[in-house]
Amino acid sequence: MVRTVLILLGAPGAGKGTQATRLAESLRLPHVSTGDLFRTNLSQGTELGQKARTFMDAGNLVSDSLVIDMLFDRVGQPDCAGGYLLDGFPRTVAQAEALQQRFDGGEDRVVIDIQVPDELIVERIIGRQSCPKCSAIFHTRFNPPTSEGICDHCQTALTQRADDTAEVVGTRLAAYHEQTAPVAEYYRQQGGVCAVNGNQHPDKVFEACQVCVTEAAA
Ligand code: ADP
Ligand code: ADP
Ligand code: ZN
Repeated sequence: MVRTVLILLGAPGAGKGTQATRLAESLRLPHVSTGDLFRTNLSQGTELGQKARTFMDAGNLVSDSLVIDMLFDRVGQPDCAGGYLLDGFPRTVAQAEALQQRFDGGEDRVVIDIQVPDELIVERIIGRQSCPKCSAIFHTRFNPPTSEGICDHCQTALTQRADDTAEVVGTRLAAYHEQTAPVAEYYRQQGGVCAVNGNQHPDKVFEACQVCVTEAAA
């Protein structure tokens, strides 16, 4: 059985989560976000959450071994047996190599790189509002909820992530350029990356992502 493994690359705030939600639904793949997995661990007060917190709050990447163990545990669950969508993993070449080693040849890997210029990232991050219950993503200006501060889907009060501040965003962008940009290069050498312009309406970004998936299947 061929398993689709869809990998979304992109800077913090590029729109990975927004597109992942839509793609997961249209492709019927489970949406696996390492950021969400860490935040769930944080809110549940697990040891893993405690370990990840200092890195996340400072805008640094969590160590590879912690992320890889957590990710493999998640994608080893039965709902991922037919494929899955990765949002926020891999973020280092070491993570990409570990994932590649885990594959058994039955995977149909699709890598999409959502590209957004750095100067647009700050406003996206500062205005992001997230639902602590259903993980829905909004933006005070670009994608406001119907009633201010309330999730459209589950009526929970929206929150701002602790790391979505002007102070931390610079560190996160630097981590992206130093550690994650080489991941796109790794995949370019390993069969290709579909680049998508993330600086357009989310509907257009979604259409472009769908083209990537269709072309990969052709
Ligand atoms: P973003 O919206 O910036 O893309 P995420 O929600 O994906 O953020 O991740 C939030 C934080 O969680 C990151 O800044 C990092 O500390 C940690 N994290 C998430 N995924 C990874 C990963 N694959 N490797 C290392 N750290 C990660
Ligand atoms: P990532 O998961 O890559 O960090 P998100 O999907 O959480 O990114 O998007 C970051 C912020 O930018 C959110 O507030 C989201 O509503 C907003 N956003 C997402 N896509 C777009 C877009 N195409 N145009 C404008 N704002 C967007
Ligand atoms: Zn919600």
